Amino acid sequence: MQRKKEPIISLHGLHVVRVRNKIAAIELENAQMQQRLRCKMCLCKELSIVFLPCGHLLACEQCGVNTITCLACKVAVTRHVKFTI
Ligand SMILES: [Zn+2]
Ligand SMILES: [Zn+2]
Repeated sequence: MQRKKEPIISLHGLHVVRVRNKIAAIELENAQMQQRLRCKMCLCKELSIVFLPCGHLLACEQCGVNTITCLACKVAVTRHVKFTI
């Protein structure tokens, strides 16, 4: 004799939906984060150069090292520091 499994299945289904929603939220957050970490010059590579003395993080390594004036505050960049998390 078998017990009816339907209530368990629907509960499980609800759980899966919740997990999927959570994953979707995390993926969205991740996408937004990636967007924020994009180079503001070429818009494709990851940010990796911090301009000094202002400390702005706006460019990837390739674009950053050739930048002599900060895009955000227009301060003359005296040093380019590699940014690592
Ligand atoms: Zn770039
Ligand atoms: Zn700046």
